[in-house]
Amino acid sequence: MQIKLVGESTLRQKCPLIDINELKSNKKWYESLIFNMTEAMNNNLGIGLAANQVGYGMRLFVTAFNAVPNIYINPSIEWFSKEMVMMEEGCLSVPGTYLRLERPSRIKVKYFDIDDMEYKKVDLFGLPARVAQHEIEHLDGILMTDHAAERTLKLQNQNYGILL
Ligand SMILES: [Zn+2]
Repeated sequence: MQIKLVGESTLRQKCPLIDINELKSNKKWYESLIFNMTEAMNNNLGIGLAANQVGYGMRLFVTAFNAVPNIYINPSIEWFSKEMVMMEEGCLSVPGTYLRLERPSRIKVKYFDIDDMEYKKVDLFGLPARVAQHEIEHLDGILMTDHAAERTLKLQNQNYGILL
């Protein structure tokens, strides 16, 4: 599974919701897509990956944490904390670029859980909250570099950090 890089149109797509009835009748197909996305994320040392980063225009992302859900179908952020936190981000679709970005430190995410086949809500903070915000922006066609001026990008090109 090939990661799409900045410049490819799929990354600028506002991804539509997954039809839950369609998901129910094609569950195996979605499970296989999720398996392949997780593999692509791990192979590229990422900790988050949105479906449109591998060319599938649908609202779905995966993450690599243990204590929080790892598969988010139709995710939406229902609440953002006022408290903000500065953190460095990288992106599998923007290789070699890392940015220090300020985002809310805590969020509430509603998503469809494919194991229990129902909508759930989860409180996220720290790195999982950061990853979810980055991935949900991907699903809206937004890249982390949209938050920064070109001059900042040039200054902050580095070779370490988290990849989402
Ligand atoms: Zn990314």
